[in-house]
Amino acid sequence: MQERWAMVRCECGRYFGSSLKKIVNCPRCNTKKNQKIIKKYSSSELLRDDISKANTPSEIENEITTRLEIYEKPNRDSQSVGKELIGKILASSTSDENIISIDSISDSIRELSLTKISPEDIIEILEASSLVLRNSNGTWTVFQ
Ligand SMILES: [Zn+2]
Repeated sequence: MQERWAMVRCECGRYFGSSLKKIVNCPRCNTKKNQKIIKKYSSSELLRDDISKANTPSEIENEITTRLEIYEKPNRDSQSVGKELIGKILASSTSDENIISIDSISDSIRELSLTKISPEDIIEILEASSLVLRNSNGTWTVFQ
């Protein structure tokens, strides 16, 4: 099979997936400096598995925490915010069948009045933390 995908490591330390043809900017620092192709893949599923193993969930949670305006209050333990928030979003966006979608996440984001985060960001954290598994129909199954 043709290798169409790549796991890329940015100089900031973040691993991410990209098509080989056109390497995207780093999702964390949004640059293309000193990117290294670590491995090539013919399957996007394998690529995603390896990326969730390469990135530690706590790093990604911390990253998200810094993007969240509403929780930027003094006296809050910033370490726990990412986890707490992800829990809230998951609780309100997961269906009875343990399914989430971009639509249900964007509803939760609206309910929680979050402005600095997109549903795609949330999916990225969830996938990187191996909390969800992507289905073929554009939804994700949540592991409880
Ligand atoms: Zn980077």
